[in-house]
Amino acid sequence: MRYNVPSPLETRIISQRFDLPNSASIDTYLANDGYVALRKAIGMAPEAIIDELRASSLRGRGGAGFPTGMKWSFVPRNTGRPSYIICNSDESEPCTCKDRLLMENDPQQLIEGMLIAGWTIQSSKGYIFIRGEYRYQIEIMERAIAEAYERGYLGKNVLGTGWDFDLYTHSGAGAYECGEETALLESLEGKRGVPRLKPPFPAVAGAFQSPTILNNTETLSTVPVIIRMGGADYAALGTPKNGGTRLMCVSGHVNKPGVYELPLGFPLMRLINDVCGGMRNRKKLKAVIPGGSSAPVLKAEECDIPLDFDSIAKAKSMAGSGGILVLDEDTDMVAVALRTIKFYAHESCGWCIPCREGTTWLKKVLTRFHDGGGRSSDIDLIAELANNMLGRTFCALGDAAAMPTAAFVAKFRDEFEAYLKRSSAAVEPELAVV
Ligand code: SF4
Repeated sequence: MRYNVPSPLETRIISQRFDLPNSASIDTYLANDGYVALRKAIGMAPEAIIDELRASSLRGRGGAGFPTGMKWSFVPRNTGRPSYIICNSDESEPCTCKDRLLMENDPQQLIEGMLIAGWTIQSSKGYIFIRGEYRYQIEIMERAIAEAYERGYLGKNVLGTGWDFDLYTHSGAGAYECGEETALLESLEGKRGVPRLKPPFPAVAGAFQSPTILNNTETLSTVPVIIRMGGADYAALGTPKNGGTRLMCVSGHVNKPGVYELPLGFPLMRLINDVCGGMRNRKKLKAVIPGGSSAPVLKAEECDIPLDFDSIAKAKSMAGSGGILVLDEDTDMVAVALRTIKFYAHESCGWCIPCREGTTWLKKVLTRFHDGGGRSSDIDLIAELANNMLGRTFCALGDAAAMPTAAFVAKFRDEFEAYLKRSSAAVEPELAVV
């Protein structure tokens, strides 16, 4: 089941089975197009499968938006080494809660997507890396995997092809950083979850230094749909270079928050007003964070945009993980900035100095500022600290912390200045110590 009432404006493709009785069972899956795509894929050459993904314009739904067909095409085949299929279900980006729904409501769809990936590169082993807090989802996935073994979709001689594929769940320990693909691989291998230097990329040297397809839960869950309906038809649902639909997780000050499946390019304001029932208590819209908490904030007047990767990038933010936070006119943006940086400072893995020190100092200065001890130089100091981190950290977490902070200051400077006026320490002491 879902936690919100579906909207008639949705285009339900990957969520089409969510509301069926016993939607997680393999019988429900088989009665509703389940494993049709795997049977079709088994009759296709690997190159033809990748061509369908290319034609679909599917872009990674975990955050980076990298074209999936291209990613799969980078994986060397017939190397004589084992290869792996890894699903990133470490869903940790604040505002994002879609992968859990895919695992809870349609786990076989994810397994089928991983099987198609495995067939494509003739891999015989896959892992679903699930964040540790998702105990409930881990249990559902394990039951679903057991059912797939019983029915011959997993294990030896899958569907009589002579090809073997084993699938395992692997629980993370709740570190946001392990959503970064190479940190995830380190953690999977039993090491500390810190990122690897890239290149080589996981396609070439991923799990156990072997060729690896590594994709997000939603991305892999979409693969059976694309193989079944054809890449071109799937692409036509979205906009050029932004094919298909995605699960958009809307939270914040709207009447009907929830997870909605909508075509790429769906207008943001229509999502707020028509899908989500408008602003709560008829308040005015102040801002939207359109792609998880690491996406730079958009002011209300910047929100008249289509929700696809390229349009949101043009607005100088990002579609990211599909987590959309709507904020009303009463929202304290300094408090939002502080809450955001507290999260990233806590989750910084500490591996590289600009992120470890930068997030710590940002948290320190923003806390002081928020709590009434702000100094006249603090606003510029916060912006400078954030801008000095951008592009200088070992992995994207540093940028994920710096980008929203810089945007909060740039776009809501008047609110920061109003804080300063209220602050008892508005005049900078002569020998100020930060
Ligand atoms: Fe770790 Fe942050 Fe550096 Fe990434 S940017 S390696 S999370 S310290």
